[in-house]
Amino acid sequence: MTSRIWLKNATVVTMNPKREILEGDLLIDDGRLVAVGEVDEEAAEGAEVRDLTGHVVMPGFVQCHIHLCQTLMRNHADDMVLIDWLRRRIWPYEAALSEKTLHVSARVGLAELIRGGTTAILDMGTVHHTDAIGEAVKESGIRAHIGKCMMDFGDEVPGPMREVTAESVRESLRLHEVWHGAAEGRIRYAFAPRFAVSCTEDLLRQVGEAAADLKCHIHTHASETEFENEFTRERYGVSNISFLEDVGITGGRSVLAHGVHVDDDDCRILADTRTAICHCPSSNLKLASGIANMVRYDELGVRVALGADGAPCNNNLDAFIEMRLAALLQKPFHGPRAMPAMRVLELATIDGARALGWEEEIGSLEVGKSADLVVMNLDDDPGCGPGGDVAARIVYTAQKHNVRQVYASGRLLVDGGELVDEDPSALMAEAREARRTVAAEMEQYLP
Ligand SMILES: [Zn+2]
Repeated sequence: MTSRIWLKNATVVTMNPKREILEGDLLIDDGRLVAVGEVDEEAAEGAEVRDLTGHVVMPGFVQCHIHLCQTLMRNHADDMVLIDWLRRRIWPYEAALSEKTLHVSARVGLAELIRGGTTAILDMGTVHHTDAIGEAVKESGIRAHIGKCMMDFGDEVPGPMREVTAESVRESLRLHEVWHGAAEGRIRYAFAPRFAVSCTEDLLRQVGEAAADLKCHIHTHASETEFENEFTRERYGVSNISFLEDVGITGGRSVLAHGVHVDDDDCRILADTRTAICHCPSSNLKLASGIANMVRYDELGVRVALGADGAPCNNNLDAFIEMRLAALLQKPFHGPRAMPAMRVLELATIDGARALGWEEEIGSLEVGKSADLVVMNLDDDPGCGPGGDVAARIVYTAQKHNVRQVYASGRLLVDGGELVDEDPSALMAEAREARRTVAAEMEQYLP
């Protein structure tokens, strides 16, 4: 971590306020960027030199809605209606997770994310064993807001998943104590009530108050399906977003996943309260939830970000797939100029950093920020050239195999396209074993 690294001769997509793309170098010292563009030879003396001729360097991707706990369920819950998908697959699976199997699930998710250039996430955990996710993130080297999933309402929730309100809050506060600011500040705690449908009003109000007191984030699902609006209208007489505002869940430190089924009144609430929406295009398509109107969010000044959601509803945790879809999905509705490539790069970097309150640390390559970055080999890939607009090359053509190096806080996590700290075949042997254990355990929780 104390070593200096001189990255030379790259195309640098800075994502700085001017959105400059430079031909030049970067100097990393003690995990931070100390020079961007031009590097003074004297300052770089003794640094490890990496020649990046023909490579693009950009900030690490930020994904603002991930479920590391669900990775072992990938390809075991497909082509289903959301509510059945939850009741028949996801909840029984989550109920069956142990500390050990959850840790493996998180490691598999993190390995995939890191290999694909993601260096910061907002994760929604499951109800129990959240420390296992914290440990996995700590070991991984990336940055995350983690949060135990909270759910204290609903008859169809399997026993171990259904919490007593006070217990849910108490455990969240304990986890906050342990994890908020852990791993040299790489980990923060976010309260994570699952969604309005599986939480009591009392729980949500307590979360709103606790998060405001502790100045930490709130992470929930909102308006993914019309069902959530029907539910809150019937019980509380208002739309889902309006209800979340009433109970204190909206705000500048709140990130709501999805935001597909919203009207302009909902959007105004989101804009006025500075609440961020995390767009999850693959998940919204696969579960047939719909397409979030990202252009309208931009018009009304709603803060937005991007995320892959969980492995069983996507089925990838891949920023490149989400970026391409985020761009393409808006165009049939708003025309080909809507959601241009550079706007999508913002969603996946600086906007995500802002949604997580980390805009001073990450999201762009600027002097003083953490060295969280991705190196891609676009020039020698027949699928990515020749040449052209750099933002377009990343958003429309690049794929995760183009990621050659990944640094987080200056630590090299991917080199030559391979994970530095994880052996994928050994990890997947563990994952298959963990999957067998969970599959046997979850039988008892099936409806
Ligand atoms: Zn989700």
